[in-house]
Amino acid sequence: MTRAFITGITGQDGGYLAEQLVAEGIVVHGLARALDNDTARDLLSRAPGVVLHQGDLGDADYLGQLIADVRPDEIYNLGGISSVAYSWQEPVLTARLSGLAAAVVLGAAWKLQEDSGRRVTCLQASSAEIFGHAAGSPQDESTPVRPVSPYGAAKAYAHHMAGVYRGRGLHVATCIFFNHESPRRPHAFVTRKITDAAARIGAEGSGVIHLGNLDVCRDWGWAPDYVDAMVRAIRHDIATDYVIATGQTHTVAEFAEAALRRAGLGDGWRDHIEVDAEFLRPAEAPDLVGDATKAHRELGWESTVGFEELVGRMVANDMELLQRSNG
Ligand code: NAP
Repeated sequence: MTRAFITGITGQDGGYLAEQLVAEGIVVHGLARALDNDTARDLLSRAPGVVLHQGDLGDADYLGQLIADVRPDEIYNLGGISSVAYSWQEPVLTARLSGLAAAVVLGAAWKLQEDSGRRVTCLQASSAEIFGHAAGSPQDESTPVRPVSPYGAAKAYAHHMAGVYRGRGLHVATCIFFNHESPRRPHAFVTRKITDAAARIGAEGSGVIHLGNLDVCRDWGWAPDYVDAMVRAIRHDIATDYVIATGQTHTVAEFAEAALRRAGLGDGWRDHIEVDAEFLRPAEAPDLVGDATKAHRELGWESTVGFEELVGRMVANDMELLQRSNG
């Protein structure tokens, strides 16, 4: 029976991935920082049978030994700091968790393959932030890597290590993810901050969303689609890099407009947005849009949820949560 190991299993993508793999009959193990919280309990109720191991991604000895003990066939490395904004507050921690931990995972996978004599396959969750101030638009697998944030730099190191271990004979695929969202996106991210606030403003008829740069363009997709891409990529005959993106960009202002309209604010949506210097970032990757032609061609992967639908699903979820909390 196939065995999978997931770091970051309690995150947005990790949860969807665990559910997909459990539904396929795969035995799923995952690393979780804590076992006695709502996130872990929710995960176990959505993906019954998942085996959670409590530990820290920054503990290299523990992580290496865990992979040796679990003996997975498929390893998905999704754990780490995933917020660009937070990476500016904790650049060293970001390097450790989003960069160095990938080297630990890949080293342990390679050793397991050597010791056991059977193939171990790996998927590194890479990021469009490795392109930073991208040399061209749209970005694809050949776009030069030149990050502009601590997060982008840590992910760039992990991305290069995936290539290094691939060269050493390990089956390592990467998905270079552009932004992807869902109702499970943490509130620290601008998209969820907007949909949560829009639901409240819609209910109360008043309120303002404080945002940073409204003109930043991002390529936003639906998280379960991106999880599906990971599974296709890790199981493809040839391990390589795949840009996973919708190819469509929208500004933060457009995201806020769509959310506020969905929450019932109509043309009055503009009155509910304010730019606040507190949320401007030191350096922002200005215009990220992905070209997923290679994933379409080689993996048969497609994005299935458009921008308006994605925003609508997130707002509807936050409206429902608000109604429930108001009794
Ligand atoms: P996420 O929701 O932030 O999940 C990150 C996961 O890492 C969580 O499970 C978190 O655990 C875990 N983690 C953080 N620090 C840890 C530590 N010290 N020890 C153990 N676990 C730790 O991220 P996501 O949105 O699912 O993204 C999945 C991957 O794709 C990430 O590598 C991210 O960088 C990459 N990616 C995502 C996007 C996107 O738009 N979502 C775009 C590009 C790349 P807790 O639950 O305990 O916090």
